[in-house]
Amino acid sequence: MVANSLAKSLKKEEAEITLVDEDGKHVYQPGFIYISFGNEKPHKIVKDERKLLRRKVNLVVDKAVKIDVDDRKVTTSKDKKLEYDYLVLATGAEIHPEDIPGCEDAYHFYDTESSVKLRKALAEFNGGRIVIGIGGIPYKCPPAPAESACLMDYYFHRRGIRDKVTIELLSPLPRIFPIEPIDPLVSEVFEMKNIKSQTFFNVESVEPEKKLVHSLEGESADYDLLILIPPHKGAKVIRATQLCDRGGWIITDRETLKVLDYDDVYAIGDATNLPVSKSGAAAHYENSVVTGSIIGDIRGTSKGEKYDGRVTCFCDAGFRRGIMLDFDYEHPPVPPPFSRMAYFKKMFFNKFYWWILPKDRLPGFVTGKLE
Ligand SMILES: Cc1cc2nc3c(=O)[nH]c(=O)nc-3n(C[C@H](O)[C@H](O)[C@H](O)COP(=O)(O)OP(=O)(O)OC[C@H]3O[C@@H](n4cnc5c(N)ncnc54)[C@H](O)[C@@H]3O)c2cc1C
Repeated sequence: MVANSLAKSLKKEEAEITLVDEDGKHVYQPGFIYISFGNEKPHKIVKDERKLLRRKVNLVVDKAVKIDVDDRKVTTSKDKKLEYDYLVLATGAEIHPEDIPGCEDAYHFYDTESSVKLRKALAEFNGGRIVIGIGGIPYKCPPAPAESACLMDYYFHRRGIRDKVTIELLSPLPRIFPIEPIDPLVSEVFEMKNIKSQTFFNVESVEPEKKLVHSLEGESADYDLLILIPPHKGAKVIRATQLCDRGGWIITDRETLKVLDYDDVYAIGDATNLPVSKSGAAAHYENSVVTGSIIGDIRGTSKGEKYDGRVTCFCDAGFRRGIMLDFDYEHPPVPPPFSRMAYFKKMFFNKFYWWILPKDRLPGFVTGKLE
């Protein structure tokens, strides 16, 4: 998105734009949840990056192994040295299920392969206790565990065996839903759907032989099928630098999106330590700040672009109903109604993502803001 936005605005003689990506693939991660419920196919959520990028963008398919911000150089695994005037770090988040002892008995929907495994396990599940736990904060898409519990309720209703399945969410927080003002609404929905929950349950380990998951707080929960949101960390190449905190998240200014004191280094998306959801929506809004700032700098027309912490988030609640949340640093979300419109917006978004988001062409009616 950053590379395309820069390429759209800057002339060839103004800038040379290079994108480094380790596998040259772009994955639409919200699709993982739908794969696990059998509503999406793995090949539909991945595309070659070259096909999404403007011709002006050079794509280097290689792993960045060293970032030297003092010498303004990125080194790749094939020992290519890329010098830069501006660097945008967008290395995302890594998942580390192996950090939870006993995790081999747990499923998750945080990559394609694991989502396919979960789909098979759910299809073979004919009754018992399904427990959804969270292996650490922060993780991508904070509403995803509650959303998956609601979709699970819908899934077993459709299979006609909902009364044989108990669904329980273990939340590490003092509430079910991470976004506080929305928690009473989600708690009501959980009650209506008969989804159970436990709070203050920070997953510590799993005992596969006893089918028990244990928390740091000393509680245990039994399960027949366990889903654990894996622990997340910043990318390895970032963890090897001084640019990040202990979790590997890049220390980023919450408004300018510049990294530490560097005027020529920006961070965007899941890779940052910003106090916003690790979401594609945040990355989308951050993009206009980062690209606006770089373009302004190059042309000497800088307007002091600032990110206001905006995130827009669509949650699918099952039964073709959803909610849309919109908030920023200063304005917490207001509880919205469950509506078909929010559900259809999410479905529209899932379908048309490829034509609009990576190419930075989001129409205003999706987010409710005319841009
Ligand atoms: C189940 C699930 C549901 C979600 N639902 C939503 C949703 O409904 N709405 C929403 O807004 N967001 C959602 N998200 C979150 C969203 O997918 C992410 O926030 C978004 O993809 C972040 O984009 P990013 O560019 O920061 O990171 P990524 O998309 O993860 O991209 C990071 C890229 O960096 C590359 N990379 C990393 N290290 C290196 C290296 N050393 N060298 C070269 N390349 C490297 C990787 O190959 C990757 O291509 C969901 C995520 C999940 C898992």
